Amino acid sequence: MGNYLYSLRRALQRWRMRQLLKHHPIPHPLWHEVTARIWALHDLDAVQMVHLYELTTWFLAQKAITGARGLVVTPSMKVAVATQACLLILNLGASYFDGWGEVILYPGAFRVQHDQPDALGLIHHEANRLSGESWLHGPVILSWDEVERDIFHHQAGHNVVIHEFAHKLDGLNGAMNGMPPLHRSMNRKNWTEALTHAYEALGHQIATGKSPFLNPYAATNPAEFFAVISEYFFTAPSVLQSCCPNVVKQLSLFYRPPTHS
Ligand SMILES: [Zn+2]
Repeated sequence: MGNYLYSLRRALQRWRMRQLLKHHPIPHPLWHEVTARIWALHDLDAVQMVHLYELTTWFLAQKAITGARGLVVTPSMKVAVATQACLLILNLGASYFDGWGEVILYPGAFRVQHDQPDALGLIHHEANRLSGESWLHGPVILSWDEVERDIFHHQAGHNVVIHEFAHKLDGLNGAMNGMPPLHRSMNRKNWTEALTHAYEALGHQIATGKSPFLNPYAATNPAEFFAVISEYFFTAPSVLQSCCPNVVKQLSLFYRPPTHS
């Protein structure tokens, strides 16, 4: 019965996707113009690009991408955001982005007000300027300036879209803590050991004044560590491989599972 329902759901998803591709396709000239500029997509083969096209079409039909502070969001901006977000779920499936529906683009860095508890539990009101933010069950907020900078000035290990949407995957099991829902085939202990070891080594390098092997922002907390290593995994895997091969192994198991689980 379970298998029957699963097959039925898959068939329904395929039918919906065919309808979307038929009635709301991304125009091919627009698709090629935008994706050709995005560094993070250059290693994908033709089959993966077709799959990415389908996922991006689905994303644009399901999620509203709106501008704040007067920013006019063009179709090309929407495709640029959606396609980089969908790179994360290329081998995971659309359901990994369930449960929320909005992406908000600010023209530049935006100011947010947060009440942060300190170690003693006292709440401090903080105002920060951010390039991106991801709410647990709410929207993803991005600075378009930053998105554009990542597209036109490729910097190894830096991609704000991948960063914020990695937080979304992390939060799928109810908390953003650096532990997304692992596949049944994965070993929780191996994941924790690999990531904790690299996280602590990075923290040690920073504390001892050595040049860090990854963006030091990754040492902020385990959630930021997962978001930053995801940026490296998709934009500069060789950098991550040379400092943290065990982390690459775990991320490969998570982002590129050989079979769907
Ligand atoms: Zn973050």
